[in-house]
Amino acid sequence: MATNRETTLEKQIEKTKKALVALGDIRPGSLSKQYNVCGKPGCSCKADPPKKHGPYYQVSYTRKGTSSSKFVKKEDLPEVRKQIKNYEKMKLLADRWIDLATELSNLRVAKEKAKITART
Ligand SMILES: [Zn+2]
Repeated sequence: MATNRETTLEKQIEKTKKALVALGDIRPGSLSKQYNVCGKPGCSCKADPPKKHGPYYQVSYTRKGTSSSKFVKKEDLPEVRKQIKNYEKMKLLADRWIDLATELSNLRVAKEKAKITART
């Protein structure tokens, strides 16, 4: 028979899995804003004070040890922000799942051991 703690852990794992499935699009990385200077002579980006071009938005991320970045159009910012947030949530949920699953596994292994000890 399952103990109370086991049942609680199973329920929490189910909840975590459901939350993971419900996340929607994900994207790793962080957004940054940039202002650039061009090469056009007499451009206001080189005036005093300078009026640089931009802002340009960029999403930077590292996958399998390789860093990349990609420009993001202003109109895509809300979607990309949401995807990045979802990715962070996904990591938190996966961590939670791992913690819950480890505790559950420890409980079950301990129970099996107790059963074997009781038999011998
Ligand atoms: Zn310029």
